Amino acid sequence: MTIRIYNSYTRKKEDFKPISNKKVRMFVCGPTVYDFSHLGHARTYIAYDVIAKWLRYKGFDLFYLMNITDIDDKIIKRAKENNEDPIKLARRFEEYFFKDMASLGIDTINLYARASEHIPEIIDQIKRLIEKGFAYVTKTGVYFDVSKFEDYGKLSHQDPEELKRHRIEPDPNKRNEQDFSLWKRRKEGEPYWDSPWGEGRPGWHIEDTAIAEKYLGQQYDIHGGGADLIFPHHEAEIAQMESVSGKKPMVRYWLHTGFLKVKGKKMAKSLGNYITIRDALKKYDAETLRLFFLSTYYRSPIDFYEEKIEQAKRALEALQRTVDNIKELNKRVDGLTEYEKTLEKIIEESRRGFEDAMDDDFNTPLALSHLFNLAREVNKLFNKQKDVNKRLADKLIATFKELGGIFGLLQKEGINEELPEELRMLIEKRKILKEKKDWKAADEIRKRLEDLGIILEDTPQGVKWKRKSS
Ligand code: AMP
Repeated sequence: MTIRIYNSYTRKKEDFKPISNKKVRMFVCGPTVYDFSHLGHARTYIAYDVIAKWLRYKGFDLFYLMNITDIDDKIIKRAKENNEDPIKLARRFEEYFFKDMASLGIDTINLYARASEHIPEIIDQIKRLIEKGFAYVTKTGVYFDVSKFEDYGKLSHQDPEELKRHRIEPDPNKRNEQDFSLWKRRKEGEPYWDSPWGEGRPGWHIEDTAIAEKYLGQQYDIHGGGADLIFPHHEAEIAQMESVSGKKPMVRYWLHTGFLKVKGKKMAKSLGNYITIRDALKKYDAETLRLFFLSTYYRSPIDFYEEKIEQAKRALEALQRTVDNIKELNKRVDGLTEYEKTLEKIIEESRRGFEDAMDDDFNTPLALSHLFNLAREVNKLFNKQKDVNKRLADKLIATFKELGGIFGLLQKEGINEELPEELRMLIEKRKILKEKKDWKAADEIRKRLEDLGIILEDTPQGVKWKRKSS
């Protein structure tokens, strides 16, 4: 099926047709690295990670680019407070950001590009804007003249009257109140670079278009970010790039994620209502957090409740148990039983349902329901049989791994994987003792594990363990 994507620009779902057939170029706005990333960032970057995984699953050759904002007012302010060099501070938090992304299983980005390493490209783009009459130089820097770009406001669907209400970067030297800065002249204590307009630093919006133009060209397929970036950031990007290139549209599909909210307000550094990714990972594993986020459509807001994360944790454990149970059943090589034949059909239906849901604007909650439905049907098998056809078992495990993998779920070898090596060895040893009918020695091991907080349970599918609740 063709993928359909909701385009924030047209406000409609459209058939996905990349510019160059199977090649897809995607740009997602990266973080401003001045502090630890929080769960709001995780919400957005996990969404784009799954979108990237889905495009690749569908056979697209995706190039996924993310910028790193390492020059910005917030970074400079924080560096001053810390009495630290701004670029040094940015590098430190960038490193934490990369670690957070890796811990969350976000592994789809082809290239990260820092603003500070693209100053020549930024200067070149500003020069072209000035030459074409879209930008002007003042005492304080260089500004984009929004009155010269008649499409200004098209992404955020604002008419000129509405746009006038926004007061951006107040400066008496500007021609229009809505003009935004492309280059800011050097101020004491700020990082700076040489330019034809004096020493200074780039504005935020031009960092992204200069980087995108270099690696993706003047027109590309997908641009993403959180919903807060639609105005003025993405609006300004369109104005810059389409003015420089004279080509429209700069981007075919604009995607925006809904906020993670706490008590109705966006989780944000400035509001102090955030939980950092690193703190959340001390309590929950990455797969649990991913399942929590992916249970909501990427464009919808999510209300943060710990109870919902706990629910995701339980649901994930149940799903993982189903996969573990299939592994542990005895395998047969003869034909399929009646129920196995039904199950084989359900696998196909579930995959189709999952694929259709993802093709329909990456509807992750609906896709997940197909995965959970498959698990429910598999669980019926355990009540009916003590063994399973080997080919069917392999197919089931492969289906769970593959579809789960698109969401970054079910990638562990099993729930038991989390158990330290020595304890797993003890469980194995007890299994051998039981096979030899050495009940006394087997019981001693059970007792030893219990003292270590591990409860064993002998089930028809094999030995299960759980932690003793305190
Ligand atoms: P920032 O570092 O603040 O520029 O944010 C980086 C990305 O995370 C942007 O795409 C933001 O829209 C997104 N983001 C920040 N806070 C949240 C939130 N509470 N929920 C969802 N996305 C967010």
